[in-house]
Amino acid sequence: MCDARPARALPALARALPALARALPALALALPALALAAPDGEGAGGAPPPLSPALAALFAAVWGASLASFGNVLIHRLPLGMSVVAPRSSCPRCGRLIPWRENLPILSYLALRGRCAGCRAPISPRYALVELAGAAWGVALGARWVWPVLSEPALWAPEPWRLWAAAGVWAWQMSFAVALIAVTFIDLEHLFIPDELSLPALLIGVWGAFTLAEWEPALSPLGSLAGAALGYALVVTLRVIGELLYGREAMGLGDAKLLAVIGAFLGWEALPFVLLLGALQGLLAAGAALLYTRLTGRPNALTLPEEELDAYFGEESPEGARGRVALPFGPFLCLAAFEVLAVGEEVMWSLG
Ligand SMILES: [Zn+2]
Repeated sequence: MCDARPARALPALARALPALARALPALALALPALALAAPDGEGAGGAPPPLSPALAALFAAVWGASLASFGNVLIHRLPLGMSVVAPRSSCPRCGRLIPWRENLPILSYLALRGRCAGCRAPISPRYALVELAGAAWGVALGARWVWPVLSEPALWAPEPWRLWAAAGVWAWQMSFAVALIAVTFIDLEHLFIPDELSLPALLIGVWGAFTLAEWEPALSPLGSLAGAALGYALVVTLRVIGELLYGREAMGLGDAKLLAVIGAFLGWEALPFVLLLGALQGLLAAGAALLYTRLTGRPNALTLPEEELDAYFGEESPEGARGRVALPFGPFLCLAAFEVLAVGEEVMWSLG
């Protein structure tokens, strides 16, 4: 759950990839494996569904929370430049290694009442929240991609690969959800998006669209590739315009890579909605934060402490610049991507 302890200096990307590669096939295997292990399954039409809806939802929630638990490792370790695979998690205060029974998503946090079992140091509720979000997305994406196939034994009994393909799409979109959650927390706290997160996510996004489109006609490999390119190009263009107009960087290259990831998973058609929704909600949040500070004179959750503002804007920058809210754009892009993911791109098109 919590950990600290630097790792050896392997290139960070190389360190992150094996962990992702190991987690994804396991997830892709999980749902169909259970479904196929159920007795019967051959009667066209007559066979009962292999899983009750409640059991299927529980299964998707458990796998979603477990994948999000890996997201917690990314959130904690990537900004510190630590390996995401080794060493095992330990308490940052007392160094106690976390045994598996204290590392169960959500349940362990509740059982331990949010404290380390060794030294009683408080554990951030972020861990449980991230896992809860993973569980919720696990169920939501399961309902969209897996249930429709699972509930029709006549469809998949003669062709079991259909279940595997549905579970593959689920795992692919879950890796997207976990990447978005991780970017949100890292960017909010550290004001940057690690390449070790966005580059593997970009690869998984394009790779998944190409391999899964063979079985899932809703996916478009070219749409994914175009989304990755357009996402990057859009932010770079906005950056250049911002520099010309205001003489400062409005968005970083981290945002460009993030929008490329979003385009790779959602397709290029989703990008105008993601940018627009992200910008609107970002402006609203910034406005609310500035208003709060104006009215109360107190700093708020979105402004940074003085010394961090110095580090961020440079000490010589004019008072006005330092007083401005340092609000990262990445989390709002993630929020917008989640919104599009939740309602589906088709709905966005019919609105727009
Ligand atoms: Zn401890």
